[in-house]
Amino acid sequence: MNDEQLHGLVDRLTLEQKVHLLTGRDFWSTTPIDAIGLRSMVFSDGPSGVRGPVWDERFPSINLPSASALSSSWDRATARAYGQVCAAEARRKGVDVVLGPTINLHRSPLGGRHFEAFSEDPLLTAELAASYVDGVQSSGVAATPKHYVANDFETERFTASVEVDERTLREVYLRPFETASHAWAVMSSYNSVNGVTATEHDLLESPLNSEWGFDGIVVSDWAAVRSIAAARAAQDLAMPDPDGAWGDALVAAVRAGDVPEAAIDRKVLRILRLATRVGALDGTSPREPVTVDGGALARTAEIDGTVLVANDGILPLDPAPGRIAVIGHNAVVARSQGGGSATVVPEKVVSPLTGITAAFPDASVDFAVGAVVQEGLSDLPLDELRNPATGKPGVRLRLLDADGEVLFTEDRLATSFVWFGGDAPIARGRTLEVATTWTPTRSGEVDLGFSGVGRGRVQLAGETIVDEAAVPDGDDLGAGLLSPPSRTGRVSVAAGRAYDVVFRFDYEPGPGGLAGALAAGFGLGPDMSDPEALLDEAAALAADADVVVLVVGTNSRVESEGRDRANLDLPGRQNELARRVIAVNPRTVLVVNAGSPVLLPWADQAAAVLVTWFGGQEYGTALADILTGAAEPGGRMPTTWPREFDDLPVSNVTPADGRLPYDEGVHIGYRAWLRADRDPLYWFGHGLGYTTFDTGDPRAAPAEDGYVLVVPVRNTGTRRGKHVVQVYAARPDTAVDRPIRWLVGFEAVELDAGESTEVQVAVPRRAFAHWDAGWAYEPGDFHLMVGRSAGDVGTPVTITEAPR
Ligand code: BGC
Repeated sequence: MNDEQLHGLVDRLTLEQKVHLLTGRDFWSTTPIDAIGLRSMVFSDGPSGVRGPVWDERFPSINLPSASALSSSWDRATARAYGQVCAAEARRKGVDVVLGPTINLHRSPLGGRHFEAFSEDPLLTAELAASYVDGVQSSGVAATPKHYVANDFETERFTASVEVDERTLREVYLRPFETASHAWAVMSSYNSVNGVTATEHDLLESPLNSEWGFDGIVVSDWAAVRSIAAARAAQDLAMPDPDGAWGDALVAAVRAGDVPEAAIDRKVLRILRLATRVGALDGTSPREPVTVDGGALARTAEIDGTVLVANDGILPLDPAPGRIAVIGHNAVVARSQGGGSATVVPEKVVSPLTGITAAFPDASVDFAVGAVVQEGLSDLPLDELRNPATGKPGVRLRLLDADGEVLFTEDRLATSFVWFGGDAPIARGRTLEVATTWTPTRSGEVDLGFSGVGRGRVQLAGETIVDEAAVPDGDDLGAGLLSPPSRTGRVSVAAGRAYDVVFRFDYEPGPGGLAGALAAGFGLGPDMSDPEALLDEAAALAADADVVVLVVGTNSRVESEGRDRANLDLPGRQNELARRVIAVNPRTVLVVNAGSPVLLPWADQAAAVLVTWFGGQEYGTALADILTGAAEPGGRMPTTWPREFDDLPVSNVTPADGRLPYDEGVHIGYRAWLRADRDPLYWFGHGLGYTTFDTGDPRAAPAEDGYVLVVPVRNTGTRRGKHVVQVYAARPDTAVDRPIRWLVGFEAVELDAGESTEVQVAVPRRAFAHWDAGWAYEPGDFHLMVGRSAGDVGTPVTITEAPR
C-alpha cells in the first residue's frame, strides 16, 4: 500500500481512534482498529533471541550469544544471520517488532548493559547493527535499534541528562543510528540529552527523519513518554499502556489546539506504514521468512565471537589430553546471557563441563567448583521436583486475590517466575502460592528462600524456613522485577527424602503500567559453607591434571539492566582461585564467561586465554569445538579491556545533580587509551586464531565514494583460518581535536593454508569528516593504516583530501 492509500485510511479514523493507535493496548501490543482492517502488532525483546509476549519456561526461545559476542565476530554476514534467527523466532512467536539491536556504545565498561550493546567503536557498531537490521527485516519483521540516544549507562537512567556536545553526538553516539536508519522502528530512550528528555527531543526529527530519511516509527522505551510535549515531537508511539501521558489527555490537547492534528496524522501514517511492512493491515502480508537453524547459529556465532587473546601454543588441545580438570562455577552454571529485559528463556544451555565431557570421550574429565559465583537464588533443579497435583516434574502454582479466591492455576517447570505482560491477572492478585515435592540428590545444609518484592514464606515439610518481607535493592523501578531481592533460611536436607515445599508470597501490584508485572520465586542461595575447602579441592584437582580449563566470570546479576557496576572485579573468590590453579598447573586455559570487561590481574600467567562472553545456549558446545580445534575462535575484541581499574580513561557513569557530562568528547574506548598513552590488557581489535596471516603493503584506490584500500593477505599457517583486516585513519597535522587514530573500515576473510587474496576495504569519504555545524573536511593528508588492533598498526598509506 502506498502513502496515498494510507492517508485515505487515516482520514477514515476519528481523533479518538487515532490517539488510541498511538498508545499500546497493553504491555507488548498495539491497538487494533477493525474498521480499517488493522490488527494488533506485537513487540518483544530481544535482542539476542526473542522472548515473545510471555516470560515462561514452557515457551522457550533460542538464546543467542550476547551482543558483545556478536560484535566480536567483526563479520557482517554473522550479524545478518543472527538477525534472521531473531526474525524466525519472532515469526514463530507471533511477534512483529523485535526490540533490538541495542546500539548504545561501550562508553565505560561499568555500564550495566554493556553486554547487550556491541562495541566502544561507532563504526563497528554501526556496520553490524545495519546487518542485524537487514537480517531481521528480510523476514518481514521490524527491527528497533535502541535507545536513541546517549543511553550508555544505567544509574538514574530514567531521569539523568547527558551533557554532550553536538560534534560528539554526531560522530560517536548518533553514528550507529544513522547507519541503521533503514530500520522500520527506532526506540527513544529514557534519559535526557542536554536537558531535554529523549521522547520530546528535536533529535527525533533531526537528524533522524529530516536528514537520514528514516520513515519508520519512533517507539518510546517502556513508559518513557511522560508528556504531551512528546506528541509535538517526532515521537510516534507511546508504549506500553493506554493510561500513560497520552490517551484522553492527548485528545484534549489536540482539541485545545496544543498539538496540531496533522502531527497526530503523521504518527498514525507511520504506524500504518509499519503495519504494511509486517503484514498487519488487510491486503498486506509479511515477506516470506528466511529459513535458518537457530540452534546451529547459536553455536557458530559463539565460535565466531570467541576471542583468543593469548595462546602459548597449548590450543587447540591436540592430541587430546588424558586428564582434564574443569574448574569454576561458571563451568557448570554457564552464563549464556546478561540480566534485564534482554532475557530470553532458553530450553537448555550447554555448560562448558557438559560440552567438554562430550568432546573428549577418551579423557577423564573432572570438575571442581573452586569458588562460588552465584548471587541471589538458583532454582531448585527440575529433576528433583514433583508437581503434587499431576505427579509429573514441576510445581503447581495458584494466584489468589485479596479474598482468597483462586484467579488461576498453572503447572510450571521452574521455581522462579516473571510476569511482564501476558494475560495473567497479576494486577488483581495478591498472593502467589506454589507447591512441589522436592527430593534432593545431596544431603547437607542449604539456604532455602524466596525472591521478590513482597512478603514471602517458604515451608519445608511443614516447617517454616523463612517468613519475612523483602524490599527492592536500589531505586530503579525495574530492579524489583529484573533482579528481585531474596531472603533465605538455613535448613538440613537428606538426599533421597521427599519434602513437601510450599511457597506463599503476598505482594502489592506495581504502580501504573507495572501493575501486571511481577517477579517472584523460591530456590537455593549460594553455598557458602566452606570456601577454603572449595579452593583446596580445586587446586588439588588442577595439580593432577594434564590440562586445566578454568572458567571464570560474572552472571546476570552482576551485569544487568537497571544498574551499573561499581568495579570490574570478578565476583567471589575467583581471583584467588585463578592464582592458586595457575600456580600449581601452568597448563591452564583460562575461559572468561562475562559480557563485558573484567579485571584479570593474573591472566598473563595462563597458557591461553579465551574471552567467550555470555555464550548463548550452545556455549559449552562452541567452547568444546574451539578447545578440540574442530573450530577456530574467530573473534577480535570489540572493546578495550583494562589491566587495572585505575587505568580506565572513562569511568564516570554516575550523574551528579541529575547530569552526566560526556566530558571526554569523541575520545572513548581505544581512542581514549591512545590519547592517554596507556597500554591496556587487550586492545580493541586484538585477537588470535589457529593459523597465521601476513599482510602485504596496502594501496589506496579512489572509489566512487572515498577510497578502497586493497590489502594483500596470505595465510602463512597450516590450517584454514579467519583474518579481520582492520583499517584505521589518522590525521598527522590537524586543527581539529581528533582521535590519534580511528577505525574507518574492516573486512573479515577466511583463507585456506597457503592461500592468498587481496582484500578490498571500503573507506567512504565520510571517514575523514568531522562535525562542525555540518560535515566538514580538512584538506590535506590523511594516513590509512592496516592494523591487527587499535594498538598495533602498520606503515601508513597517505591520501590527500582536496580542498573544497
Ligand atoms: C528497556 C528496553 C526494553 C523495554 C521493554 C525497558 O526497560 O530499557 O530496552 O525494550 O524495557 O522490555
